[in-house]
Amino acid sequence: MERLSPFSLSSKNIVTPDGIRPGAVLIENRIISDIVPPSEIPSRFIIQDVGDLFLLPGLVDTHVHINEPGRTDWEGFETATKSAAAGGITTLIDMPLNSTPVTTTVASFEMKKRAADGKLFVDCGFYAGLVPGNENEIEPLIKSGVFGVKAFLTHSGIDDFPNATEKELRTAMPIIAKHNVPLLVHAELESREKKLSSTKKYSDYLSSRPGKWEHDAIELMIHLCREYNCMTHIVHLSSSDEVPTLESARRSGLPLTVETCPHYVYFKSEEIPDGATQYKCAPPIRENENRELLWKALQNGVINMIVSDHSPCPPELKLLNEGNFMKAWGGISSLQFGLSIIWTEAKQRGFTLFNVARWMSGSPATLIGIGMNKGSIAPGFDADILVFNPEKSFIVSQSMIQHRHKVTPYDGRTFVGEVVRTYLRGSLIYESDKIIGSPTGRILIRS
Ligand SMILES: [Zn+2]
Repeated sequence: MERLSPFSLSSKNIVTPDGIRPGAVLIENRIISDIVPPSEIPSRFIIQDVGDLFLLPGLVDTHVHINEPGRTDWEGFETATKSAAAGGITTLIDMPLNSTPVTTTVASFEMKKRAADGKLFVDCGFYAGLVPGNENEIEPLIKSGVFGVKAFLTHSGIDDFPNATEKELRTAMPIIAKHNVPLLVHAELESREKKLSSTKKYSDYLSSRPGKWEHDAIELMIHLCREYNCMTHIVHLSSSDEVPTLESARRSGLPLTVETCPHYVYFKSEEIPDGATQYKCAPPIRENENRELLWKALQNGVINMIVSDHSPCPPELKLLNEGNFMKAWGGISSLQFGLSIIWTEAKQRGFTLFNVARWMSGSPATLIGIGMNKGSIAPGFDADILVFNPEKSFIVSQSMIQHRHKVTPYDGRTFVGEVVRTYLRGSLIYESDKIIGSPTGRILIRS
């Protein structure tokens, strides 16, 4: 990689782990070497001043479905990491499913890395999957450098990634705990609801996956987390009913973390039109009242982080003409817009970019054990930095979308907060609607 001359980024608003403050971030050998008053920038540094614009740590998105190899017609490393760069994300972690093969063996993990090689515009790591029958692969996968192990408690949507049951969890959790990586759980446990095969009504879809599914799954996971003292991470919490339970489990000292996603804290089910399957995801988007309680849980720290769960598919699988919620692919495309979506809503509720940086950079970096060199603007950290204009608004249009497919429920929505530039380890990778240069992202291996 080419050498970079030392340079500094001055701003009135640097979002650091200790608060937002003015100063100059010194960048040397791709690392943040210091934050100093602008008057104290050493003479060998090239000075850039962004004025009132904010400097934020590059986002760390620990929940992304890239779908390569095997379903590259759904997304892919090149398009996903370009949209990440445009959205201010400098590190992402790829989920073990929707690609073919799924990442459930060391051999398929090797195929993942080969598929990603040379295509990454941002840094990218991987999770392994736990499915019935691959319990013996879990330890070798962890030793090969995955950042965690993902399991579903209900059908994943992909037949080659069947859900784990309590039996598999009990076999795998002691191994996962021994290596101190997180077990990431899709926490819905199916109960006997009357099964619909077809509906265009969003309210039918919502009641087909009631909060009880999340409740039962979370109860089980808290129980197992306590038994095995295994780091357990609840992915995409949707039901606010579970917040008190999660809070008391955390308070009792369990190694339990929780994420939610932009769609659960932006949309409200009351406003989802019937037949609008671009809003379909699982667990489902719930009522406005539920949404406000999720914001409260972010405020008091019960929900630790916000990640995209970017889960795209070819437009035809969304069955937009048919509008059948039961048959359409469940997954929302949003990778590029997460920061602006969250800032638009967070700002109205009195949060600052300090809160946003913790939810979208610092906490996810900590989850996957890279919080010592990514996710913060502080001395010694990788110079993964974005320049952000918190006042500029824009309308999402298909022409600006870098994802492979342009179907997203955010199409046509207005957001405030624009990523002006993105730096990956000191290199400018995105500026003013343009991806800069060749792919310089690295494959991250957990050490
Ligand atoms: Zn997901």
